Amino acid sequence: MKLWYTEKHSKDARFSIKVERQLFSQQSEYQKIDVLESQEFGRFLTLDGLMMLTEKDEFIYHDMLVHVAMATHLDGIRDVLVIGGGDGGTVRELTRYASIQHIDLVEIDPMVVEVCREFLPQTACKLDDPRVRIVYEDGLRFVRGKEDAYDLILVDSTDPFGPGEGLFTREFYGNCYKALREDGILVNQQESPYYEKYAEATRRSYLRIHSLFPVSRVYQAHIPTYPSGHWLFGFASKRYDPVEDFGPEAAAAWNALGLYTRYYNTRLHRGCFALPTYVNELLEE
Ligand code: SAM
Repeated sequence: MKLWYTEKHSKDARFSIKVERQLFSQQSEYQKIDVLESQEFGRFLTLDGLMMLTEKDEFIYHDMLVHVAMATHLDGIRDVLVIGGGDGGTVRELTRYASIQHIDLVEIDPMVVEVCREFLPQTACKLDDPRVRIVYEDGLRFVRGKEDAYDLILVDSTDPFGPGEGLFTREFYGNCYKALREDGILVNQQESPYYEKYAEATRRSYLRIHSLFPVSRVYQAHIPTYPSGHWLFGFASKRYDPVEDFGPEAAAAWNALGLYTRYYNTRLHRGCFALPTYVNELLEE
């Protein structure tokens, strides 16, 4: 009997992966956690049935969440806050920078970290880096009251339904603004412009961020296992523009680090901010 994992991307469109084995399945205090194994995508994590990451294509998402901001402000990022990201992939990419001194990973669900440590070492492999402090708390609450504490905040959350909902609010983004230092950067996974449910979330969160930060842009990547594959990221900053301030010197400085990244590169860095017309129209005020 063939087993298939299927995610509804809209009421009339679904995405399925043939499953070889179910490795884990349990309800945590916050969500249903499943780890499945497939020929096509390797092992993959779902939360409440929604695709979070696969061994085969997680490099795209984690490259793009981390390296665009790091390359933009390479020598100015010491203290980083990751909200969500319990699978560890974002932390793994951050620990590749010797210049980063401290990483707070604020994950609401301890079970996600435990499960990924056991079944997805590919992403969880750097959670024990001495610079990493894991805090099991709601990111919305954690960031309240923080001031001038971080150079970079990465919001690696689930979608704006369930525990992730609060991480798409104006209150949360306003608290992130206060928690960032004077040249701080906020990057968030910004959903997708294609299917209506995700496009509405994209527009809502972008306009909230845009109303708070002097610099706010959106960039894109192709992530095969996410709804429509067309995925967006938000880049907000108190000072640096990720395109205007990313000249040949900045690109050369990042390239000099010798970090091999299978998706991100310094040419794509500028190109990913060139959005299709329909996406620009979606983001217009
Ligand atoms: N790459 C995935 C995506 O774009 O959907 C996100 C991966 S990561 C597994 C998402 C994490 O956010 C989950 O582990 C979830 O428990 C966590 N999360 C959801 N809401 C949260 C909140 N309010 N505070 C902290 N972590 C939260």
